[in-house]
Amino acid sequence: MAEPEPEPAPEPPAPTTPDVAAPAPARELLDGAEDARLMLEVPQWDDATRFATYCADSIARAAQVRARLQLAQGDQAQIVADFDQLSRELDTAGGLASLMFNVNPNEDYRNAAEKCEQDISKFTTEVSLDRGLYDALAKVDPSTLEGFGKRFVEHGLRDFRRAGVDKDDAARKRIGEINARLVELEQSYIKNISEDTRSIAVTDASKLAGLPQDWLDNHKPDADGKIVITTDYPDFFPFETYVTDEALRKELYIQFLTRAYPKNKDILQEVLALRHEKATLLGFTDWAHYAIEDKMAGSAEIVDAFLGDITKIIRPRAVADLEVLLARKQQDYPDAKAIQTYDRFYYVSVVQKEKFDFDPQSVRPYFSFPAVKAGILSLYGELFGLEFKRLEGAKTWHPAVEAYELLANGERVGRFYLDMHARAGKYKHAAAFEIQSGSPDRVPYASLVCNFPNPADGDGKALMEHDDVVTFFHEFGHLIHHLLARKSRYIDLNGFNVDWDFVEAPSQLLEEWAWSPEVLQRFAKHVETGEPIPTELVKKMKAASEFGKGLSLMRQVFYTAMSLYLHEADPAKLDLDAFVGDLYKRFSPFPLVEGTYVYANFGHLMGYTALYYTYQWSLSISKDLFTRFKQEGIMNGEVAKAYRSAVLEPGGTEDAKDLVEHFLGRPRNLEAYEKWIQEE
Ligand SMILES: [Zn+2]
Repeated sequence: MAEPEPEPAPEPPAPTTPDVAAPAPARELLDGAEDARLMLEVPQWDDATRFATYCADSIARAAQVRARLQLAQGDQAQIVADFDQLSRELDTAGGLASLMFNVNPNEDYRNAAEKCEQDISKFTTEVSLDRGLYDALAKVDPSTLEGFGKRFVEHGLRDFRRAGVDKDDAARKRIGEINARLVELEQSYIKNISEDTRSIAVTDASKLAGLPQDWLDNHKPDADGKIVITTDYPDFFPFETYVTDEALRKELYIQFLTRAYPKNKDILQEVLALRHEKATLLGFTDWAHYAIEDKMAGSAEIVDAFLGDITKIIRPRAVADLEVLLARKQQDYPDAKAIQTYDRFYYVSVVQKEKFDFDPQSVRPYFSFPAVKAGILSLYGELFGLEFKRLEGAKTWHPAVEAYELLANGERVGRFYLDMHARAGKYKHAAAFEIQSGSPDRVPYASLVCNFPNPADGDGKALMEHDDVVTFFHEFGHLIHHLLARKSRYIDLNGFNVDWDFVEAPSQLLEEWAWSPEVLQRFAKHVETGEPIPTELVKKMKAASEFGKGLSLMRQVFYTAMSLYLHEADPAKLDLDAFVGDLYKRFSPFPLVEGTYVYANFGHLMGYTALYYTYQWSLSISKDLFTRFKQEGIMNGEVAKAYRSAVLEPGGTEDAKDLVEHFLGRPRNLEAYEKWIQEE
C-alpha cells in the first residue's frame, strides 16, 4: 500500500507437505481474542520474547482449529465459523510481525518478527493445500448461508481450487514442485538485478555541470581522475535528468538496461514455462488467464481490450510530447531525428524549467510537516465525518511514533499509529500497514510508516516536497480504508481485502485533494509569513507536473503489454528478444536501444506477473470516482459520505465493480481518464 510499494504478495503459495497433523499444544493457551487485546492494549514494544511466545501461541491456536476442521464433524455453521476463526487466530500476529520487522528499533524484536512471518507463511501455505480442509468447506452449501457467509465460502473454495487442492495426487505433487522452484527463481531474478551494479567512468568533470551540488560532492574523481557513476538509483536518475551530453546519458542507460543480463534471460524463460505449466494443470489456457480470473478485470480478454483502449487514448498525447521534446533537442543537436529513452528525463526537465518556470523548491516553505499532518487529519475528518484523538503518553515502539484513536459519532472505531520520520534500520519507503482487521466485534488497528522530514531535526521547519504531501494523502487513504471496512463478521472480507486490482483506486483518488488550491490553502501556509499557498503557484506546479505525462504513460502501456503478453505466449516457442523487440515497435514511444534487455531487469515481472495493468486500471477508476467530487464539490460532505458508505465501508464484501457502480450510479468508463490525458 505504498508508492513505491512493497509488491503485493505473489499469488502462488510456497510448497509444502499437505495434511500435516496439528501439534498437541504444550501448555494451556490463552483465548486468542484476549491475547490479541493484551498485545495491542498493554503493549511492550521492546519485549521480543513476549512477541515470539504470542506468535507461537497464535499458530498453535490456529493449528487446533485446523485439526477440528480436518475432522469436519461440526455442522455447516460450525465449519464456516471455524474457517473465520482460523484467520482470526493469525491475523494480529501476522499484522504485528510484518510491521515490527520493518520498524522496531530492537533487533531481537525484528528477528522475532521475521521468524513469525516465516512461520505463519509456512502454516498458511500448508492450509491452502490441505485436502481435508477443502473437503470440509466443500460440504457447506453457500446458498443456505445468511449475510456475507455465501461470499466468504465461495471465495474460500475458489482460493483452494486456485491452489490446486482439488486436483489428483500427481498434479498436486507437480504443482508443489513448481511452486518451490518458482520461489527460488523469482528470488534469484530480483537478487541478480540488485547485485549487478554496473558503472561508467567520466574523466571530464565539466560534463557533469548541472547536477546538484550534493551529488557532485559525492562523486569526486579518484586517483586516476576518473569519476565513477553507477546504475544505482541515486546515481542513475539525477544523471539521466541533468547531464547535457547525450552520449554519456546513453552510455549509462545501456548499462542500466543490461543489468542481470544474460543470467535473467534464462531465469525468465524458465519462470514463464513453469507458470504456464501450472496454469494448464489448473485448467487454464495460460498464466495470464489464471492470474486475472479472480481480479476485478476478470479475464485476460478484458485486460487486452483495456490495453487497446488506453493505447488509443495515450498515444496522441505521447506523440505530442515527443514533438515538443524533439524540437527542443534540435536546438542542441540540429541533426537529431528522434527522442530516445535516454533523452526523456533530461528534456522533460529542461522543458519544465523553460516553459513552466516552476522550481519544485519554491513550494517547500508552504509544506511544513506539522502543518501538513494537522491539515490532512482535519481534512479527512471533515470529509468523512471522523475525529482523530491523539493518545498522549501511549506506549509506542519509538518516541517519535504517535498513537491515535479514530472516533465516529464519539465512538471509538479504530486505532492507528503515525511513524512518520526516517531513522536507522527503518523501512525506507512509505506504506500503510494493517495490524489487525476489524469486524463488528473487533476494533481495527493500522499504522502509517513514512520517511518525511522531522521537526526534531535542524531548524525544526521540516519542509516537505510536494511529492511527499501527495504520498501522505495516498497512504492515509489506505489507512482510512482499512479502518472503516469492518462490516462483515468474516474478517477476510474486511479492510483492504478488496479485488487486488482495485486496492489502489481509493488511495489514488485521495491524491486529487493534494492538487486542489482550495484544499491546500487550508493548511499550506508559508512557514515564515503565514501566507497561504497562492492559487497561481499551485496551478503552475500542476501544469509542470503534467508535462511529459503522455510519454510516461506510454511507457506504462509498454510495461503493461510486456507483462500481459509474455504470460499469454507459448513458452516453448518464445524468442524473448524477438518478442520484446516486437512489443517495442507496437507500444513503446521510443525505439529499442541496441544492446539493452528490459526483460532481464524489470522486477515487476516477478511480483506482478501478468498483472502490471493494475496501475492504469485503478488509476482510470480513481479518475472516474473523482468525477462526482469534481461536479458536486471537492469538499462536499454528502458526496464524501456516499463514497464512504458505498466504497470504503463495504471493504471486500462486494465485488469492486459493484462498489464503483453503487457510488457512480453507472458502470465505470474511461471518459474521465481520457479527459485527464487529453486536457490537463
Ligand atoms: Zn498505494
